Order: sequence, then C-alpha cells, then structure tokens
Amino acid sequence: MSRPAKATVDLAAIRHNYQLAQQLAPNAQALGVVKANAYGHGSVAVAKTLEPLAPVLAVACIEEAIELRQAGIVKPVLLLEGVFEADEIVTASEQNFWIMASGIEQVELIANAAIAEPVTVWLKADSGMHRLGLTDGQVQQAYARLSALAHVNNDIVIATHFAAADELDSDFTLQQINRFASMTEGLKTPVSLANSAGILAWPQAHGNYTRPGIMLYGSSPFAQAQANADQLKPVMTLASEVIAVRTIEAGETVGYGRSWIAQRRSTIATVAIGYGDGYPRQMPNGTPVFINGQRAPLAGRVSMDMITVDVTEIGTVNVGDNVELWGHNIPLNEVASCVGTISYELVTRMPLRTPRLYI
Ligand code: PLP
Repeated sequence: MSRPAKATVDLAAIRHNYQLAQQLAPNAQALGVVKANAYGHGSVAVAKTLEPLAPVLAVACIEEAIELRQAGIVKPVLLLEGVFEADEIVTASEQNFWIMASGIEQVELIANAAIAEPVTVWLKADSGMHRLGLTDGQVQQAYARLSALAHVNNDIVIATHFAAADELDSDFTLQQINRFASMTEGLKTPVSLANSAGILAWPQAHGNYTRPGIMLYGSSPFAQAQANADQLKPVMTLASEVIAVRTIEAGETVGYGRSWIAQRRSTIATVAIGYGDGYPRQMPNGTPVFINGQRAPLAGRVSMDMITVDVTEIGTVNVGDNVELWGHNIPLNEVASCVGTISYELVTRMPLRTPRLYI
C-alpha cells in the first residue's frame, strides 16, 4: 500500500475558474499564470490544461518557461519577473518567450540584443507597488526607444501590478489605475493591469490582458466574501488517512513538546500527513480537519509525517478513514488564516514528496 497523503488537483475546476476570469473581463485576453510550479499544482499538467484556452501562459523566470517548452507546450510564455542576461533574450526570441522589461537596464539589454527573430516585449510601469517597474517619466521614454527597433515586435504591452487590489475598502487601486493612465497617456498600445483581485473586483482595470493566478486555483484573494469570488471552484484537495487510533486519559498529553493536554478521556486519531507534505508545522491546536463528514480539531504539534486529531466528539473513527486537510469541506483560505498566512503560500510550498493526483 502506498502512503495515503496526496493532493488531488481538479483540472476541470481550473478550466472553470479560467473561464470565469474570461467572462468577467470579456474584452481582455486572460493569461494563464503558472509560475512557481503552477502555485504548487504542477506547472506542466496545469499548462497543458490551460493551453487550449489561454492565448499566453505566464511564469516568473526563464527556467520555468523552458520547463514548459521541454514538456511540449507551444503557446507564448510571458516571463513576469523579466530577463537579466543578454543570453536570456536570445533564448526568448528563439523560444517565443515574451519578456517583461521592468527597469531601464532591461530596456537597454533588449535594445542592444543581437537576435535573429523579433521578440515580444512588455514594459512594466511602477504605478505604486514600488518593487519593480519603470517610473513615471521612464515609461514613455522606454516605449519610444523599443518601438523604433526592428527586433522588437509591434504592440508592446504596458503592464502594472497592484499592491492592494484585495483590499476592497481601500482606494489605493484606483490611485494606481489613475497613475498608470497618466503614465501611458497618448500611447496606442495594449495594457495589462489586473491580477485575480483586479479581475474579480476592479472592472476599471481589465485592460487588454489580464493575469489571473490564484483564482485559477480556486482560491479567493479577498479576506471577506465577494460575489464574483463565490463562483470559484476549489481545485486542490489535500487529504490522507487515519493510520492509528488510541484513547488517552484526562491530563495526558499528545505529540512533541506536549502542547495539547487532554481535558477529559479523549480519542486521538493519528493521520499520515505532516510538514514534510506541506501541512505547516505552525498549524495551531484546534485547526479543523474533516473526517467522516465532520470537523475535528488538531490536537498536538504537527510532525514531519503525522498529525494528531481529537476525534472524541465525532463518533467512531477507524484506521483507513479519509481525512481532508483542505479542499471542498475545509476551505484553503480558512486553513491559511489559522496559521497566519495566505492560500498562495500554503499551496506554493507543497513539496514534491506529496503526489499530485489529477482528476
Ligand atoms: N501578475 C504578476 C506580475 C504577478 O507577480 C502575479 C503573482 O504574484 C500575478 C499576476 C498573479 O497574481 P494573483 O495570483 O494574485 O492573481
């Protein structure tokens, strides 16, 4: 019998979520963002699922793009983080990778590149994130410089990235939209602003290309309920099985560091999943897991390969019973907030040891 810990990835749900991104921004083309191993879901499997639907895929860096090409993906792949060396531009032109120039150094690298095939370039404008991107005066200057070159394709896309689009009460996104409009004033060229939160909540920001990431994986970027986000379908179910059940007396403790103390005679189920499978060690006592149709609280520290759950209140639990850590019954966002992080981090940190099962 193989180890029962596994992450089931629902590819039909990814298609549904991608189509939702398209429907919400019908005048824009939605990229399929598959960086960081498709947010831990497996970049090749996800890219193959999205390739028939998405005109362009997007990754962070050239290594991730090469992995997709080696797996037979033929659609253009945008490198969101940009390029840093001249030879990356050569590879990009040969492989039809679209490159993001997010600083004047990168603009110059592209301008001076010796390439046979023209390359497609996006310019990143810094409208307020202040992490990467051309500053107010540089955008028009970079556009003029690159659009005059024969080895850069026409239709240079100008992009920006939001710092707080998930904060629905803040007007900072509107400030970014306005600043971006003035940075690009007079340029008749496609634009790209929206990440998932932008697609779901900021229709003013839909532009010509959207860049959905987390929403493809079925997780809302918002802390509160949001009507469009309610239509997302969960994609990953992290599950395992009970491998032992025991009864302990009041006052006895469970696990490393004895962080959980039985307040009464208690039944403890041990489940084959741990921080070595991407279930964070910092997960506190009381975090819910789902067993036999009911929620039961984590009891004791997460080990590398196991967790312990207080199943005293949920009736009979047997070795072999299925346990969901997150998925349809325990939302990923809820688990993430128990451990003080966001869904992005939980799924992206899923290690290779945990098999992905595609359905
Ligand atoms: N665009 C850029 C430039 C990004 O860095 C990211 C992810 O961080 C995305 C789009 C996708 O963002 P999200 O996952 O919030 O949709």
